[in-house]
Amino acid sequence: MVTESDPGRTSVVVRTPGRDSSRPGLVLHGHLDVVPAQAEDWSVDPFAAVEKDGMIWGRGAVDMKDMDAMLLANLRHLARTGEKPPRDIVWAFFADEEAGGVKGAGHVVANHPEWFEGCTEAISEVGGYSVTLPDAATGGTTRAYLLQTAEKGIAWLRLKAHGRAGHGSVPNDENAVVRLAEAIARINAHEWPRTYIASVQELFDGVATITGRDLDSKDPEEFLSLLRGARPFVEATLQDTSNFTMLDSGYKHNVIPRFATAALDCRFLPGHEEEIMSLIAELAGEHVEIEIVHKDVALESESEGELVDSMKAALLKEDPGARVLPYCLSGGTDNKHLSRLGINGYGFAPLRLPEDLDFVGMFHGVDERVPVDALEFGTRVLRRLIQDC
Ligand SMILES: [Zn+2]
Repeated sequence: MVTESDPGRTSVVVRTPGRDSSRPGLVLHGHLDVVPAQAEDWSVDPFAAVEKDGMIWGRGAVDMKDMDAMLLANLRHLARTGEKPPRDIVWAFFADEEAGGVKGAGHVVANHPEWFEGCTEAISEVGGYSVTLPDAATGGTTRAYLLQTAEKGIAWLRLKAHGRAGHGSVPNDENAVVRLAEAIARINAHEWPRTYIASVQELFDGVATITGRDLDSKDPEEFLSLLRGARPFVEATLQDTSNFTMLDSGYKHNVIPRFATAALDCRFLPGHEEEIMSLIAELAGEHVEIEIVHKDVALESESEGELVDSMKAALLKEDPGARVLPYCLSGGTDNKHLSRLGINGYGFAPLRLPEDLDFVGMFHGVDERVPVDALEFGTRVLRRLIQDC
């Protein structure tokens, strides 16, 4: 099945019937678009998929042509052998994820929900990659694979302060620019409390067990430094956040404008949506109106259950002795769109990575690359998962 939301914005969906189609179906999905790349910053052509030093280099190597390729290799395997998975699998390749997915997963979910009929679970980015932790029991190291079971929600807000317009030479105690500045200062001064949702707490506990450290939840610095390369993804999931990103007001140096606006990027943990929205409104104050530019849900799926067990088992068969730990993603994925159909999403694009590769830094980064043997590893893990899902 193929659909085009705009010319060139194509999404492709395929259903493989399982041996027991009465069971709930599983969606395996990836996005086809990538963010832009400035070729002069790169050491290779970002759009040539150069293979060197045992790696594939190019925009999308980890976000997320890697998973697309691993899925396609497995879909091809099923097509060639006629093997049937235990239950229906819906393979979805979406356009537009990097622009919010409205013209990709959002479009498909809104216009063709029947393509996902009977599906209850989904697997995609951003999880399944390994981090290497010091192992207290052996004195060596242990690979932990981070399975994404939750993701933060997004609220892009525009704050619009109202005031009294007037001449720049006349005193004015209802100045929209000043009211906006005060609102910004109040919101920025707010310290979002640390709150560990279930998946973050489980990650903490897992890291503590492996490393034998007694991690202080009030001061997560030691914990974050143990996670090394995965740190940036995890650090932002310890609390809600709000950051001002744009300002706009006025049109002439000697005119006090009626309005002043600011853009605020809020990211909230699962269950915190109402709280963050009412707190921002309260801090903004009575003269500042709040417009929602874009809002999307936070997600948290079970970190236990049959599908999680199957993902763990598939991984551990290929990397015995490793550990699998849940984690929350600070960004968003197409799982948000699928959640509108009641589908629970996970991030599991399995990659066994070298200890020193700055994997998280590859996302939208310069010289994005992925080890070839990690792709082969992930393809085998997904094959096992597909045979046992
Ligand atoms: Zn992505």
